[in-house]
Amino acid sequence: MLVNGKDFSSRASKAPADAGLQQQVSNLKTGFVAARARAVAALPEYEAMRDAGAAIKDHTLANLDFYLERFERAVVDRGGHVHWAADAEEACRIVREICTRTGARTVTKGKSMVSEEIGLNEALEADGLDVVETDAGEYIVQLAKEAPSHIVMPTVHKTTNEISDLFFEHHRRHGFSERVTDAAELIAQVRSVMREKYFSADIGITGANFLVAETGSNIIVTNEGNGDLTCTLARVHIVTAGIEKVVPTLNDASVLLRLLARSALGIETTSYTTLSTGPRRPGDADGPEEYHVVLVDNGRTKMLSGAFRPMLRCIRCGACMNHCPVYLAVGGHTYASVYPGPMGAVLTPMIARHEAANELPHACTLNGRCQQVCPVKIPLPDLLRRLRHEQWEDGFIKGRSRWGLGVWSWLATRPALYRVATRLGVQVLRWLGRSRGRIGHLPLAGEWTAGRDLPAPQGTTFHAAWAKRKRQP
Ligand code: SF4
Repeated sequence: MLVNGKDFSSRASKAPADAGLQQQVSNLKTGFVAARARAVAALPEYEAMRDAGAAIKDHTLANLDFYLERFERAVVDRGGHVHWAADAEEACRIVREICTRTGARTVTKGKSMVSEEIGLNEALEADGLDVVETDAGEYIVQLAKEAPSHIVMPTVHKTTNEISDLFFEHHRRHGFSERVTDAAELIAQVRSVMREKYFSADIGITGANFLVAETGSNIIVTNEGNGDLTCTLARVHIVTAGIEKVVPTLNDASVLLRLLARSALGIETTSYTTLSTGPRRPGDADGPEEYHVVLVDNGRTKMLSGAFRPMLRCIRCGACMNHCPVYLAVGGHTYASVYPGPMGAVLTPMIARHEAANELPHACTLNGRCQQVCPVKIPLPDLLRRLRHEQWEDGFIKGRSRWGLGVWSWLATRPALYRVATRLGVQVLRWLGRSRGRIGHLPLAGEWTAGRDLPAPQGTTFHAAWAKRKRQP
């Protein structure tokens, strides 16, 4: 898993000046945010569905051992195999062993955030396997040797011209000698290249949007149909999924699917919803000869037993990042993690267990928009605040920040003194901004004022304004 959160601040300070990136993320601000709002407004029972979705996930997480074992039994009964992986290394080892035993040379992959999390492509490529991403977005970032910058739209940072250049460079060997910039023609090229890969693939690897305990089914949603072809045409189908992906029944999955499509893309349903349940049976027209599910823990059990359990409700819709002012200002690569944005700022430190990820919970203004739009009501700001608190307790927060927060906390617990200090602070700030109405440089907050002016306070403190309001009849 790519984690280098330590340099988050320096990367974030450069991102606003990247005109191409800003242009690309602005599409999220308008297109997807508006589409989601329309889709939600058109469904009167949306809020009730959010409650139902959160309740399904909470119930499953409270009984996760039961539903995982039920899922395993259902898969085995239908001729499949279930493997349990404690961490990323074990998950990769299991998949590599299946590839070696079956003599695989070519692997097609459907979009899978867990496989990104465990670094599966790198592990398989190190064994000499030809690994091809079949989701158009994932394929583009694979050609560019980049990580996805969004969990639903991996290429949101890339312009059409950049994609055109990439295809011009890499598709000549597939017979495309002309440079094209039309979106439909670019997609047609991907389709043509993929067709040949699907038919030559020994192994198809997909992720899982949901695993259904009652039937042993894996559900994946795509808009390109690539997931369908990846799991049907290869000799062996391997599913890599986090243990939190299991849900009790198909009915439960249908509630979450309705939430997912609306939250991710602002649509009623995705073009393809594929259920795969075991290997090909006698009489089946197609399907894999072998079917494997690798259930990945990688820090999730630890989350399950503590205060961060609600994070395991996440259905990876990406709505929190589409509405996050920090993500929209700095883009996904700034997080240097497979999981960017608000959900990644919680998940990455929990999964990566890497000190470098500790900077991520601070990439948040705590405005609460992510919680408002989360389809399964994950209290992301509370979880981020808790992570910060734990970092404080563990001594991770040092230097000026620790000193400043210590002084603030000392004052905040002495209301009379706090009121005097803030009143004095307002006077000083008004005096500093007396000529221009704003302050260009503040001692101790130089990093903040380096990029923007601070407006001088116009009135009095909040406490004084509130007291005055209460006195009014
Ligand atoms: S935290 Fe909520 S909004 Fe964000 S990706 Fe997960 S389910 Fe979607």
